[in-house]
Formats: sequence, structure tokens, C-alpha cells
Amino acid sequence: MLTSTELESVEGNVGDYNITLSQKPRYVDMELCTSCGRCAAKCSKDAINLPFAQAIPQAYIIDKEKCIDCKACIKACPADAIKLEDEGQKIDINVGSVVIATGFKTFDPARIEEYNYWHPDVITAVEFEEMLSAKSKTGMRLMKSNGEMPDKVAFIMCVGSRDFNRYNKHCSRVCCLYGQKQAQLVKKMNKDTDVTIFYIDMRSAGRRMEELHEHTQEKGIHFIRGRPIEQDAEYPTGRRRIY
Ligand code: SF4
Ligand code: SF4
Repeated sequence: MLTSTELESVEGNVGDYNITLSQKPRYVDMELCTSCGRCAAKCSKDAINLPFAQAIPQAYIIDKEKCIDCKACIKACPADAIKLEDEGQKIDINVGSVVIATGFKTFDPARIEEYNYWHPDVITAVEFEEMLSAKSKTGMRLMKSNGEMPDKVAFIMCVGSRDFNRYNKHCSRVCCLYGQKQAQLVKKMNKDTDVTIFYIDMRSAGRRMEELHEHTQEKGIHFIRGRPIEQDAEYPTGRRRIY
């Protein structure tokens, strides 16, 4: 896997492509770095770090915009892995096929006024994942802004999707699946939490996805068909009503 790398050119045909890549400098030799963190402990500018605990590759990287070239990290590194003179590199490879992954932008739920995304306890699925991930600010626990575990959690499917009059017409094809997975996670963290999924149609198609849906229901997660019309955040108490 090549990170911080851009495609410069592709030549050839199916089964025989010559690819030229341009890899940006990271100023740390990935082969030598053991992620011991001694360099970061000595850096007064917070310029060298591991982006997050499970980062791939497991190697530190220097942010040159913060770095002042003091070389304290070089002295601290027992593996001689710091290369402040790194200029990046051109890489030529030959491959049989190319997969074009365009990436995507997530929908901004603030566009739907009635969902009150401004409230700190109204979060997106990506923010939910971040809260439970290794880079979590809550110690990988599901937590409201007041530090308490919520006693009720509502998941709203199709936010910004299948909304012909205002937003995207298409189905995201994923929120039914990850929504159910996240709902099950909430139940796993606390079986007494009241969890409800608001949906338009359950489109969990695919191998073993019907079983996922059945399993979610068996966990005691409620399914209500329909879009919530309004979500009253009752700021600052954090309580919420669904109309
Ligand atoms: S050279 Fe100095 S400022 Fe730059 S990453 Fe190393 S310790 Fe930090
Ligand atoms: S001190 Fe050297 S080996 Fe340790 S994390 Fe920093 S660059 Fe990697």
C-alpha cells in the first residue's frame, strides 16, 4: 500500500499498464520506524506524530509546516529513521488492472434544519464511528455531550437521500446496513438503552443481510417506518422528542 501518493500517468492496455506515481515525502523512513514515539516526546512543535493509533503504515510522519528543523527528533530516534532531507520519490510500476476509486463527500445534515445538527448530541454515522474508534475523544465510549451514556438513541436513515424535492434522489445503499450495525453496537454497550431506527424502506439487500435485519430485531431494537418531521433538541438539557 502506498500512501501520500498521487497518480502521474498511466500507459498501456488491459493486462499491461505502466504506471508512474509520485509519493510525497514523509521525512520518516517507514522501514526503520518502530513507532516508539520518542521523537514526538522531544518535538516542541508537535510536528511529528502517528496520525492515529491504528494508522497504516504504522510509522510516524513530519508536518513540515510546523517543523522548525531543530533536529531534536533525530537525536531522540534510536532507529535512525528521521530523514529531514526526504524529497519524496517517483515510483514506476507495471500492473494488470486498475481500479478507480473516486471517493465521496458525505452529506451535510446541517442542510436539514429540522434535524438540529447544531446540537452536540445530534451526530452523523461517521462521528458515531469516530467516537468508538481508536482516535476517540471519549475513550471509545458512546457518550452524550454531558458525559453520560444516552438512555435513548434514535437512528434516522436516508438523511439527504431519496428526497426528491430537496436533496439527493438516490438511495445511499449503505445506511440501512451500517445503521443496524451501529444500533446493535449501542445495545451491546448497554442492553437497557432504548434504540429506535427510523426508516423509509429497509433495503438491506445482499448476502446474509436479511439475517442481519432479523438479528437487529431480535436485539429489541425498534423500527419505525417514516421520516421524523422534527427533532426537538431542547438545548441545553439534551433531551429530545421525535414528532
Ligand atoms: S526537526 Fe524539530 S520541529 Fe521538526 S519534527 Fe523534529 S523535533 Fe519537531
Ligand atoms: S523515534 Fe524513530 S523509531 Fe521511534 S517513532 Fe520516532 S521516527 Fe519512529
